[in-house]
Amino acid sequence: MQYTSKLPDVKTTIFSVMSGLAKAHDAINLSQGFPDFESDKTLTDLVCKAMHSGYNHYAPMYGNLELRLAISKKIELLYNASYLPEHEITVTAGATQAIFTIINTFVKSGDEVIVFKPAYDSYEPTVKLNGGLPVAIQLEAPHFSIDWNLVRQKVCRRTKMIIVNTPHNPSGTVFSKDDMLQLQAITKNTDIIVLSDEVYEHMIYDGEKHQSVCLFPELKKRSFVVASFCKTFHNTGWRVGYCCAPKDLMGLFMQVHQFNVFCVHHPTQKGIADYMQEPEHYLGLSSFYQDKRDLFLSLIKGSRFKFKKSKGTYFQLLDYSGITDEYDVDFAKRLTVEFGIASIPMSVFNLNNLDHKVLRFCFAKKDDTLRRAADILNTI
Ligand code: GLN
Repeated sequence: MQYTSKLPDVKTTIFSVMSGLAKAHDAINLSQGFPDFESDKTLTDLVCKAMHSGYNHYAPMYGNLELRLAISKKIELLYNASYLPEHEITVTAGATQAIFTIINTFVKSGDEVIVFKPAYDSYEPTVKLNGGLPVAIQLEAPHFSIDWNLVRQKVCRRTKMIIVNTPHNPSGTVFSKDDMLQLQAITKNTDIIVLSDEVYEHMIYDGEKHQSVCLFPELKKRSFVVASFCKTFHNTGWRVGYCCAPKDLMGLFMQVHQFNVFCVHHPTQKGIADYMQEPEHYLGLSSFYQDKRDLFLSLIKGSRFKFKKSKGTYFQLLDYSGITDEYDVDFAKRLTVEFGIASIPMSVFNLNNLDHKVLRFCFAKKDDTLRRAADILNTI
């Protein structure tokens, strides 16, 4: 028997590789993005309560209605934008399933999808699985800003979708209002769908404002907003996220979603719905994580790593070009094995594995973990 891969170039995701290596070598794991502290007990109690009060069978396909109402209220409060809970919001098995299903719904053989590199590692394989052609635009460190004229040149009749991500993983940069206006102008009078990955919407620093596509009426009409509860409520293993889009787009999404997962874990949805009744449960996140970023950076300011402060997400890039010219994957592995600290090498997210000599560190960690990590980084 001979079996062939639909993704011959794809290896195991770097997140599993580096977390596995960290575990094997008992290293401090600042690689894969997840907190090393527990979710609020109030929330876990609410999920348990939901389990004990009968929320154990299928939720509606779009998701638990109370949760969709809570999401729509949140979006109204933060962005003054309206999505109908009945037809325009769907709860998904994490943001990754939303992304997968959106691409699967719309991308056909030969369609082009514009992605900005460094890009989160699920986008392009998912496009390819559906016969689509990723059109990658490489952004340059340390600013990772987008040359919208170049984007304009790449847009053509075959362009089906543009994938954007702000706050941006892995670079920690954010889109400005002008970026969004450029995106809006480029897609105007086209059928292009915008997939806007906004899973870090509540982690944005130094007084900046998150630029959601839903703030821009012309963009909102053609966009899916993808969001995550796992990031916001510190429980990445729960795999609950959601997406929002106008009714016509969401109707098409639902044709696929119904056969993909049908619905996601019901008691968790009910618990989160109850928890979201208090907006302070998600509104305080930026200052919580900004303090962690600032602590981490103040602790390593005397090290040989160079950095620009992360503007959003819970990731900080560190440039190690002053230390060694090793390939970043090799250096990240060596730091894990020899020094006991794990990070993510950036080149895996870049076009042709371009190596900027930069590693990504997750600062969603207890202060004590950040102190121990900094002690190591200061010796390198
Ligand atoms: N989003 C997380 C990160 O960037 C990892 C997700 C995953 O492990 N699949 O680190």
